[in-house]
Amino acid sequence: MAPTEAPPPLEGKKRRIAILTSGGDAPGMNGAVRAVVRQSIASGCESYVVYEGYEGLVQGGDMIKEMQWDDVRGYLSEGGTLIGTARCLSFRERPGRLQAAKNMVLKGIDALVICGGDGSLTGADTLRAEWPGLMDELVQKNELSADQVKPFRHLNIVGLVGSIDNDMSSTDATIGCYTSLHRICEAVDAIEATAYSHQRAFVIKVMGRHCGWLALMASVATGADFCLIPEMPPKEDWKTEICDIVSKHRKMGKRKTIVIVAEGAHDCHLEPISVSAVDKLLKEKLGLDSKVTELGHVQRGGSACAYDRMLSTLQGVEAVQAVLDATPDIPSPVIAIVENKIVRKPLLEAVKLTQDVTKAIEAKKFEEAVEGRDAEFREYMNAFNITTSLEQPDLILPTEKRMRIGIMHVGAPAGGMNPATRAAVAYCLARGHTPIGLYNGFTGLCRHHDDKPLGSVRELKWLEADSWASLGGSDIGTNRHLPSEDYEATAACFEKYKLDALFFVGGFEAFHAVSQLRVARKDYPAFKIPMTVIPATVSNNVPGTEYSLGSDTALNQLINFSDTCRQSSSSSRRCVFVIETQGGHCSYMATIGGLAVGAVAVYTAEEGIDIKTLAHDIDSLRKTFAEDRGQARAGKTILVNEKASEIYTAERIAKIINAEAKDRFEAKSAIPGHFLQGTAPSPMDRVRAVRFGVRSLQHLESFAGKSKDDIAADPMSTAVIGIIGAKVQFTPMEKVETEDTDWKKRRPINEFWMALKPIVDTLSGRPPMESAG
Ligand code: ATP
Repeated sequence: MAPTEAPPPLEGKKRRIAILTSGGDAPGMNGAVRAVVRQSIASGCESYVVYEGYEGLVQGGDMIKEMQWDDVRGYLSEGGTLIGTARCLSFRERPGRLQAAKNMVLKGIDALVICGGDGSLTGADTLRAEWPGLMDELVQKNELSADQVKPFRHLNIVGLVGSIDNDMSSTDATIGCYTSLHRICEAVDAIEATAYSHQRAFVIKVMGRHCGWLALMASVATGADFCLIPEMPPKEDWKTEICDIVSKHRKMGKRKTIVIVAEGAHDCHLEPISVSAVDKLLKEKLGLDSKVTELGHVQRGGSACAYDRMLSTLQGVEAVQAVLDATPDIPSPVIAIVENKIVRKPLLEAVKLTQDVTKAIEAKKFEEAVEGRDAEFREYMNAFNITTSLEQPDLILPTEKRMRIGIMHVGAPAGGMNPATRAAVAYCLARGHTPIGLYNGFTGLCRHHDDKPLGSVRELKWLEADSWASLGGSDIGTNRHLPSEDYEATAACFEKYKLDALFFVGGFEAFHAVSQLRVARKDYPAFKIPMTVIPATVSNNVPGTEYSLGSDTALNQLINFSDTCRQSSSSSRRCVFVIETQGGHCSYMATIGGLAVGAVAVYTAEEGIDIKTLAHDIDSLRKTFAEDRGQARAGKTILVNEKASEIYTAERIAKIINAEAKDRFEAKSAIPGHFLQGTAPSPMDRVRAVRFGVRSLQHLESFAGKSKDDIAADPMSTAVIGIIGAKVQFTPMEKVETEDTDWKKRRPINEFWMALKPIVDTLSGRPPMESAG
C-alpha cells in the first residue's frame, strides 16, 4: 500500500494536541475536554478531539476532528462525555494500536491527552512504550514513509483520571467521583426518611468495581451503621460483627439501619458478600424489616458538581502545560490532586500502584491494599470505624485521660457544622470523654447558664447527634458574639462547667474568638485549656486553611443557581446574568464559582471594579454577541463579589450594561443571598467535617492530664485545623493571627485561589486589558 499524504504543516502552531475520553463516562469529563481545547488554543496549539475513545483513534478519519473555541461552549454543565466513550477491544491488541498510531500521524497529532480510568491509562502507556516500534513497523510495511513519521518520533501522552470509582492510586480524587458521591448521598438521604418512618433497615449497593472509596465515603457522609468494602473486609465472623453493631445502635434507640455494600465487597476469604446475604442476615438474625436498594447507573452522576468542574478545569489546563513542558526523557505524567494541590506524577508508577492494590486484595494483604489507596483512605476508614463503633472496650481511655469537652458553634451557619459536631460527639463517646454542647454560642453560655435538661449547656447524647450527619445549618445554634463581650462571665462558665477543652466550629468569628481567648489567658487562667477551631463558613475566609467546611456546599448552590440563570439567558440568546456572591471581602466563591460555571468576568473585592474594566468587558460582550449567530448554549454569566465595589453593585452593573448594549443584548442581575448556605451539606463538606472533627478531638486529647501552665506554654494549645497545599494540618493561632490574617478585611493575607483567576479569564476568552484598545 502506498504511503498516504504527509500531515498538514503546523503553520507556526506549537503542537497538535488531541483529547479523548475513555472507559466508563464520568461527570467532569466535558470540563476536561473544554479546558484542554481552550487552553491548547490559548497556548498557540491546534486542538483536536477523538470521538468514542480509542475506537475513534483506531477508526481515524472524521473520528478525529479539529476543535475551535466555540465548539466546547456549554460543556461545563453537561454530564457524561459529549465526545463519546467506548470500550475498544481492538486497541487492546497491537494491530489496533498500529492503526491508531497511523491515524494520529496522518492527522499530525503529536500529543494525546487521555481522560479515563486505570484501564485507559494502561492502554495509553502501552501506546507510548510501543510508539517507536509502531513507527518503524508502519514504515517497514509501507503504510507511511520515513519522512512522514520523522516529526513524530516522540509521542507525548498525558493522563487525566476520569472515573467515578476513585480507584487510581497517586491521586486523592478522580474526575467524577465526587459527583457520583453526591448522587449516592442524595439517594441515601431519601431512603433514610422512609427507613426512619417504618423503623426499617436498608442494604444499599453502590458502584466502585474493586474500589471501596464510594461506599466508604457514602458511609462517612450519611452516618451509615455498617460499611463493606473490598480493601478491608470484616473479620472472620462478619455476620456477628454486623449484628453486634446494628443491634447496639438499635438498643440505643435508633429507628433506622443503613448498611452500605460496595460492588466489590467480599469476606476475608474473598468470598463475595452480596446485598441479599446482608438483607437475609438482618431479617433472620435481628428480625428487622429489611430492604435492598441497588442504586445502579444513577451513580454515573449527570451534571458535574462544583468540585468536579473545578478539578477537571484545573487538571485540563495543567495537562496542556505538561504537554508543552514535555521532553523525550520526561516520563509521561498523570495529573493528580493531593489534598488541595494539582500535581504531576509518573503515569506508569500510578498505574502500577493501582494494580498493586488489586493484587494486594487478591493476595488477602488487606493492610497493604488500604495503604495503596490515597492518603485519606485509611484516615476515613478509621474515622468511620470510631464514629460508628461507640463505647468499644479497647478504645476507652483510662479515667485520668478523659475530658469534659465543650462544643460551640460561632459565626454564620455553614454546611458541615452539624456533621463535624456529630463526629466529635461519637468520638468522645468512643473514648470516654464527655461532650458538652454549648448552645447558642457565647451568649448562650453566659446568659442562660443552667444545666437543666433544656438549658444552653448540656451533655450531648449520641441519639440526638446521630441525626446530624446529613443536616445543614447548626442544631446547637450559632451567632457572631465574641468572648470579649464578657470575659468575666465566660471564664466563670468555663470553670463552672469544668471544661477541660474546647472544640469550636465556625467562620472568622470562631477564629477571632479563639484568638481573643488565647490573648486573655494572661488574665483568666480558666482559658488555659486546649482549643481547636474547625473553619466553617461559606466565604472560605478563615486564615490558616485553604478550605472551610460549607464552602463546597455554597459553591454547589452557586452553580445550580447560575446554571438556571444561564439556561434562561441561553434560551433568550442575547442575555448576560450578573450574579452577586457572598464572601465579605474574600472573593473565593466568586473566583472558584467563576471557574466552575465559566463566567465571562469575575469581579473581586481584592481587585475592585473600575470604569475602565467595566468598559473593557462591555466591549468584549458587544463583540461576542455581534459574532454570535444565535447558537445554543450562548448564556453568559458575570460573578460579582458582594464587596467588590460600593458603587458598581450587581444591579448597577446590569443597568450600565443595558445602557451600553443599546438593545443589541441585555443584562439582568440576580442575588442568591442566603440560598448559598444550602440545605443538606455537600458530601465533601460532610466527609471533611468528620475527618476534621476526629483529628481535632485527637489533638485536644493529647493535652489530657497536662497542667494549665504547660498547656498555655504550648503554642499548639490554640490551633486552627486546615488544608494547606497538599497537607491537612494544625497551625498555632499565634502564628496564623500574626502572619496570615488581614484583620481589617477579615480574610487570609495569602489567598491561594487568587492565582487561579487568570485561568477563569483565559478559558472564558476574556481579552486581557492591554488589548482593549
Ligand atoms: P473505568 O474505571 O471507568 O472502568 P477504565 O479506563 O478503567 O475506566 P477500561 O474498560 O478498563 O476502563 O478501559 C477502557 C479502554 O481502554 C478499553 O476498552 C481499551 O480500549 C483500553 N485499554 C484498557 N486496558 C488496556 C490495556 N491493557 N492495553 C491497551 N488498551 C487498554
